[in-house]
Amino acid sequence: MPTLARPETCPDCTAPLDGDPGFPVWCPGCEWNLLVEPAAAPGRLTPREQRRAARAERRTAERERAVRARSELVYEQVAGGSPAHRDPAVRLAVALAGLVHLTTLLVLAGSVALLVGDAWPLRVLGAVGLLIAFVLRPRPGRPGENDRPVGRAEAPALYALADRVAAAVGAPPVDVIVLSDEFNASFGRTGLRNRGVLTIGLTLWTVFTPAQRVAMLAHEFGHAVNGDHRRGRWLGFALRALHEWYRLTVPERLTASGDHYVLILAGHLQRLVMLLVNGAVAGLLTALDRLTVRSGQAAEYRADALAAAVAGTAAAQSMLESLLLGTTVESVLMRRRNRLVRARRDDRADAAELRADLVERVAAVPAVERERRLRLSARTLGSVDQTHPPTHLRVRLVGQRPQVTEPLVVLTDEQGAAIEAELAPHWERMSRELLRG
Ligand SMILES: [Zn+2]
Ligand SMILES: [Zn+2]
Repeated sequence: MPTLARPETCPDCTAPLDGDPGFPVWCPGCEWNLLVEPAAAPGRLTPREQRRAARAERRTAERERAVRARSELVYEQVAGGSPAHRDPAVRLAVALAGLVHLTTLLVLAGSVALLVGDAWPLRVLGAVGLLIAFVLRPRPGRPGENDRPVGRAEAPALYALADRVAAAVGAPPVDVIVLSDEFNASFGRTGLRNRGVLTIGLTLWTVFTPAQRVAMLAHEFGHAVNGDHRRGRWLGFALRALHEWYRLTVPERLTASGDHYVLILAGHLQRLVMLLVNGAVAGLLTALDRLTVRSGQAAEYRADALAAAVAGTAAAQSMLESLLLGTTVESVLMRRRNRLVRARRDDRADAAELRADLVERVAAVPAVERERRLRLSARTLGSVDQTHPPTHLRVRLVGQRPQVTEPLVVLTDEQGAAIEAELAPHWERMSRELLRG
């Protein structure tokens, strides 16, 4: 296969192109080659298959346009300063969530009523109902496989920074910090005691600058005060219960439990009921998602504004842009994993080496490549409804607000070093796990 020479000028607008040869070539002027078109599927399609493929493509394009339009509308509303708290859609979502909770209560009450009755077949039904109610009970999400909580006594410097940032955004101090291996961070409330849990992805933390770390913490604590209904208990527990209903009612092919026509009929009937409930649950989940997307995205923009207020506008923007560098981190990990396999070394990964490599590679991503990823986030937006608004709109909105040049919280070198020392054993363990693949 002939290797294509890297063009020096844009084939479309003849603008001179430069950029790191280690990254895809594209034109910032006219966005030539921004989207690398997927290769056409090989093989001949019958006319009927062609029509079907064209229809599917049109549907996808329509859905993407709709998602993009929704995101852009929310952006216009938030940028225009329209108040979000009187969102009638959220009220409807809250009412629907109430129905979900009512259903759980009815299942529980009904099961108890059946259990205290005399007829044993009904008692069995009651026991099954109790089991279902148990599955549906309000409960926190499950932690990730490699997640590890780190306590206040173990990481006083990290908690001191977290507390300062939380105080700056007006959030209560966090109850527990959890370290994960993901290129991500999140804040949530968990359990009936509603404990605040901050999850910090260590790869993200490692490649972030001190100011970006502060901005990231401020954004996450912003979720404690930005009135995001989706993260509240009422809606959050309802969504979780609905996911359980969905899981419980996925119709499975019943193995014939007998060949008597009554049993076969009962099997079909059960499948039909499951199918109906499953469809209704899926519809309800979609509806709740649609109803809360506006308030959820508006809440994200508010959290970004808090990040800018606490860490400064520039730090907040560069933090958001750096969230698009996950693939760079992943490629460093891949390369190191392969090298370990080739060297047949045991997996005593050198944590310090991995850290240096990650920091260096992320810092080496040139501005034109960062810009490409940002523009790509605008173009490819819309394959799914996401909880966060598209990154390019988040960066733009932070830029449109009054510039903050005096950060409220600064992470000094000394404090940074103390935190690094606290996190060192965790990074060592996690890099071992990451390199094992
Ligand atoms: Zn061009
Ligand atoms: Zn967020």
